[in-house]
Amino acid sequence: MSTEIHQKINQLREELRQHNHNYYVLDHAVISDYDFDVKLKELQELEKENPQYFDANSPTQRVGGGITKNFETVTHKNRMYSLDNSYSKEDLQDWEKRIQKNLGDENLEYTCELKYDGASINLTYKNGKLINAVTRGDGFQGDDVTINIKTIKSVPLVLQGDFVDYFEIRGEIILPLEGFNKMNKERIDAGEDPYRNPRNTASGSLKLQDSAEVAKRPLDCLLYHIVADELPFESHFKTLENAREIGFKVPDAIEVCKNIDEVFNFINHWNIERHNLPYETDGVVVKVNNLYQQDELGYTAKAPRWAIAYKFKAEQESTILHEITYQVGRTGAITPVANLEPVLLAGTIVKRASLHNADQIERLDIRVEDTVFVEKGGEIIPKVVKVDFTKRLTHSQPTKYITHCPDCNTLLERKEGDAKHYCPNQYGCPTQITGRIQHFISRKAMDIDGLGAETVELLFKEGLISNYADLYDLQEEQIIPLERMAEKSAQNMVLGIENSKKIPFEKVLFALGIRFVGETVAKKLAKHYKSIDQLMIASFEDLVSVDEIGDRIAQSIVDFSNDLSNIQLIDRLKSYNVQLEMSVESQVNQTDKLQGKAFVVSGVFTKMSRNELKKAIEDNGGKVSSSISKKTSYVVAGDKMGPSKRTKAENLKILIINENDFLEMIE
Ligand code: AMP
Ligand code: ZN
Repeated sequence: MSTEIHQKINQLREELRQHNHNYYVLDHAVISDYDFDVKLKELQELEKENPQYFDANSPTQRVGGGITKNFETVTHKNRMYSLDNSYSKEDLQDWEKRIQKNLGDENLEYTCELKYDGASINLTYKNGKLINAVTRGDGFQGDDVTINIKTIKSVPLVLQGDFVDYFEIRGEIILPLEGFNKMNKERIDAGEDPYRNPRNTASGSLKLQDSAEVAKRPLDCLLYHIVADELPFESHFKTLENAREIGFKVPDAIEVCKNIDEVFNFINHWNIERHNLPYETDGVVVKVNNLYQQDELGYTAKAPRWAIAYKFKAEQESTILHEITYQVGRTGAITPVANLEPVLLAGTIVKRASLHNADQIERLDIRVEDTVFVEKGGEIIPKVVKVDFTKRLTHSQPTKYITHCPDCNTLLERKEGDAKHYCPNQYGCPTQITGRIQHFISRKAMDIDGLGAETVELLFKEGLISNYADLYDLQEEQIIPLERMAEKSAQNMVLGIENSKKIPFEKVLFALGIRFVGETVAKKLAKHYKSIDQLMIASFEDLVSVDEIGDRIAQSIVDFSNDLSNIQLIDRLKSYNVQLEMSVESQVNQTDKLQGKAFVVSGVFTKMSRNELKKAIEDNGGKVSSSISKKTSYVVAGDKMGPSKRTKAENLKILIINENDFLEMIE
């Protein structure tokens, strides 16, 4: 009897899976909604009566209902890169030249896909079942939002046909325009403000705490990339065809092109046709089709070399500039902001736009009351690109840039060669003080839970903190009486601060907010100097000798280290046990054996993957570069090394070694 029930359950699950696929992926329903619901109810009943047959990937799990307060942070097995952008045919031709330089005269083919405008997602499947779904986050780590993703009907929970045992597939969660407009109509009818645009609404949906809410939103998932240790395909195009066959929604607007002319035809076609699509797209992604060539080309610090995004020309609108205001950043940099008559631009209502700096205002001769053109490019904040002089008012006066800080009234400075004005009052200017603390607690830095930007302002206003070290002295009793605070929130805050003591040194270094020391630079410095003490005694000369550290960064670090108040701050952080040196674990297997040596890696290896090999080079102090030049010390060659690379290495008389030779070097 019980096996019969189990069989019935499985049969219903398979039937419903098939119907979901027909309806949401193939857009071709074969049964009525009513019949579907009847079957779903039947399955729900059976599952309820027989909890021993629970399956997290059953179609009944799509309705949601689970509540998540904090999404778990997960490290991506394979980093999720960003894409480089291009804006013209010339840009694409330059990209092709760089590839040809790298690969030699191998045959090239490209796939063109639309660039779907939503929130990126990484889905992992094991033995044909969805095991998790993680947002892109900072590319290294994201949030586990599986519970919410399961409610999106076009995401298969169980696959069909032939697939590899374990793989990740990447795509974009989007909100099609029709669904977006419907959601907005409901909001307006209910007297609420409409959502601004589909992309933000899609990405906001992924972080909703109540998955039943997510299930109600008409989200969709379009896939564009499979990542696996080994794939039985030679081309990207084939992997996409396979993805479609095993149940994923892969749009049809994909084409293989033989050259950049053909690529451009695709772009021109979609530049017009995109307005008829059911969802938004902001460009085309061009990829080298051959997977082996992709592997050979590899990645820069930010993006794959084998792919590039082409951005459709930004949309422009004209509107009136009412006022110019000035913002102070955490480093004291002043940014002028245009306050505009609200205007609809590329689906968003724009009220403010960046004016960059004083020179920009002068060059474009931007004045209050002017009619200006605003453009929305890749960046979130739109910019003013020109003035409509035909509409200038007769009494109009040239803009006088501010001379004093809008926040603390200190006389602004502008250093030679700097485009921006700065408020030099680092330790007294309120916005700079809170800005530094807000940066310190931010996600990519100390990632402090339970404390947000507004609370930082509140704590500062109440005199409880005036620098980031003060955070570690905060007591619950001090926080509870504050506005909008309670025992629970105070506890969470103190706990979040306590937990940040485990954040690794490289992130702490980034959190300190030293000018020009971004995430990547902080990583480099942490690895090289291993502790804040070593870094702070480093001379300018020593700093610039570190790979990729230039004059500007070096000077900024020296300035930081010579400042007495910084030294005191660091001492305090140390006393609270914040990680100010590399942990022992992260230092094992790290040596200087390959110091000063540059490697190029080419081909396929047997003992380790190409990425492991590259990591081993870097861990031992060597440098990995992508193309062979006179500066290359060794080429590590595996199977199927590109013929043009071999010739080049031989011509330049660069030593070609194999995997075993390399392993001996680092033994
Ligand atoms: P960006 O966020 O501008 O750096 O662009 C990179 C992002 O574009 C990726 O993280 C993807 O989420 C997204 N994207 C959208 N469509 C595609 C596509 N067809 N191929 C690759 N990436 C895409
Ligand atoms: Zn100031």
